[in-house]
Amino acid sequence: MAIPLLPASLRNLMRDLERLPGVGPKSAQRMVFALLRRPAEELERFASDLLALRAAKTCRTCGMLAEQEQCTICRDQTRVSAILCVVETPLDVIAIERTGEYRGRYHVLGGVLSPLEHIGPEQLSIPQLLQRVKDESPQEIILALNPSTEGETTVLYLQDLLKEFSGTITRLARGLPTGAALEFADDLTIARAIAERREVQRQPAAA
Ligand SMILES: [Zn+2]
Repeated sequence: MAIPLLPASLRNLMRDLERLPGVGPKSAQRMVFALLRRPAEELERFASDLLALRAAKTCRTCGMLAEQEQCTICRDQTRVSAILCVVETPLDVIAIERTGEYRGRYHVLGGVLSPLEHIGPEQLSIPQLLQRVKDESPQEIILALNPSTEGETTVLYLQDLLKEFSGTITRLARGLPTGAALEFADDLTIARAIAERREVQRQPAAA
């Protein structure tokens, strides 16, 4: 076995950084060497910022990240309660908020159905969504999931669960490339996908 050239402290940090999305071994190495040159107080702040992540909460209503029991969007009385936009992750909320075009409320599922990754309905906040639809009776539910295979499966599943819902169910307009995540789309594309959202075809609920 080759003797490691670098001290364990550096190697450990590199290993941690490599676990982050988009960071390969070379970037991790560059980051660690850049950090080595930073003053001690900056490193301490960096470390305490990391530890502070443990205190991050999710909103008890919508699942968005929050500093209190409820997120800033749920606490905002000026938001329109008649529209509920269902998304996969908090990053999708940020992407839609960035457009400034949407004034309704959100529900963050926490992912999509994925049998391969053992993510079923119980791993997502689907029961909470159904409860909210019952309690808040929105007029419209936008299923703003990403156009991936899992996203499609989840949309069909939700449509089926919501077949008794008397309001409108819409989906984002096409325009987002298949497989592209909402978080990576530009503001204009997202704004247009929301503005041109279309109603989904539904089977009438059995009487
Ligand atoms: Zn919230």
